[in-house]
Amino acid sequence: MSFFDKVKQGASDAAKKAQQTVELTKLKAQLSSKEKEIEKFYTLIGESVYAAYISGDSARSGEIVERFSQGIDAVKQEIAVLEQKIIEVRNEKECVCGKVVVADTKFCSACGHQF
Ligand SMILES: [Zn+2]
Repeated sequence: MSFFDKVKQGASDAAKKAQQTVELTKLKAQLSSKEKEIEKFYTLIGESVYAAYISGDSARSGEIVERFSQGIDAVKQEIAVLEQKIIEVRNEKECVCGKVVVADTKFCSACGHQF
């Protein structure tokens, strides 16, 4: 590779790295807002169950918990998608055992799984 090709390659790698950083920052911001959504659901569950108790209708508590928990499940699925994207942007992959490794790894260092 000539000197100028190396310079060009270096600039291209730097641009890719910058792009990756921007993408990661965006994904992490989305992740943290999803985590805040879950916190809101927890608060809503508490407030609603207490409101049911106050109005003498504690029997509704189970239904309230059920409904908001389904909302939490949905947000958790979105979080799983975001976490997967973060792994991909970082050029990593997740093993069946849960260990995150560099994308071109052939064997998992934790469980020995072959990719
Ligand atoms: Zn593994």
